[in-house]
Amino acid sequence: MKLGELEALYHQPLFDVISQSRAVHLQHWRGEEVQRCSLLSIKTGGCSEDCAYCAQSARYSTGIEREDLLSLDDVMAAAQRARSQGATRFCMGAAWRGVRDGSEKFERVLEIVREVSQLGMEVCVTLGEIGSVEARKLKAAGVTAYNHNLDTSPEFYPEIVSTHTFQDRLDTIAAVQESGMSVCCGGIIGMGETETDRLRMLEVLSNFDPPPESVPINCLMPMPGTPLAEQAPVDIFELVRLIAVTRIALPKARVRLAAGRTRLSREGQALCFFAGANSIFYGDKLLTAKNPAADVDVTLLRELGLQPQRATAS
Ligand code: SAM
Ligand code: SF4
Repeated sequence: MKLGELEALYHQPLFDVISQSRAVHLQHWRGEEVQRCSLLSIKTGGCSEDCAYCAQSARYSTGIEREDLLSLDDVMAAAQRARSQGATRFCMGAAWRGVRDGSEKFERVLEIVREVSQLGMEVCVTLGEIGSVEARKLKAAGVTAYNHNLDTSPEFYPEIVSTHTFQDRLDTIAAVQESGMSVCCGGIIGMGETETDRLRMLEVLSNFDPPPESVPINCLMPMPGTPLAEQAPVDIFELVRLIAVTRIALPKARVRLAAGRTRLSREGQALCFFAGANSIFYGDKLLTAKNPAADVDVTLLRELGLQPQRATAS
């Protein structure tokens, strides 16, 4: 879609855009189903990059302890726990710029993926910059989807990161698409960008070929010590509008209500689900940030009459 079309959708009266997104949602999805994903940080902190929102950058004093790549046993234990709590997708994130074929850490990640993919959940990894060789090997090891967020518009990107470029992000995504893995790609709102920046990001996403299978919408979790530590929370109606327009622009994508749910009310989250969000990250921790406790989410879904997606294999 073009920016102008996205803007026209976005700036309608709120109930009009939600009615339209709901109709699109019900054409493509079971309206009551929500997928629960679990996200584990397999390598935490000490990252060379300077992403202004990120507590894991080595450039800022955020109090995050740097940890090495987790052992296979630790990852398997976390994956089994996530599955037993009802997650149908298991995502693993690493705090580094990227990873190259031939390195010891890449071999270890491949081994982890081979084992985790035996558990019957979708397997997603977010390992930063990769090329075609790494993408092919990850797919062969059993990765379903590769997450690599655009985070914001091409115009605003240099304001939040100086150590790599928006084009670097697009190059990694192209390598992932070429390998046949699905792309999970979204962004963060509340970093000081304009509403137009958010729609520009959506314009880029909606023109991917093939379109992303999954679009996480994060609200900034302001992390102490980072340049964005003092950012104000996102307005709930701006978030709901963005989710609605994302649902219309990318009808078949899972729209994931990702970071920042601890700062949303139950009513706010309910509106997001109605507008087209159909996945949440589940479990007490999101990489290094807080997330609602699993039992609070189970209660919320039950109260709304929403149903967790069931596992298709075990
Ligand atoms: N290093 C890899 C990369 O940059 O792609 C993977 C890990 S990175 C932590 C994964 C994603 O988490 C980022 O792209 C960003 O969208 C999200 N994220 C990180 N810190 C966040 C924060 N404080 N608030 C909201 N989202 C955040
Ligand atoms: Fe590093 Fe990723 Fe955090 Fe950027 S978002 S500092 S690349 S871990």
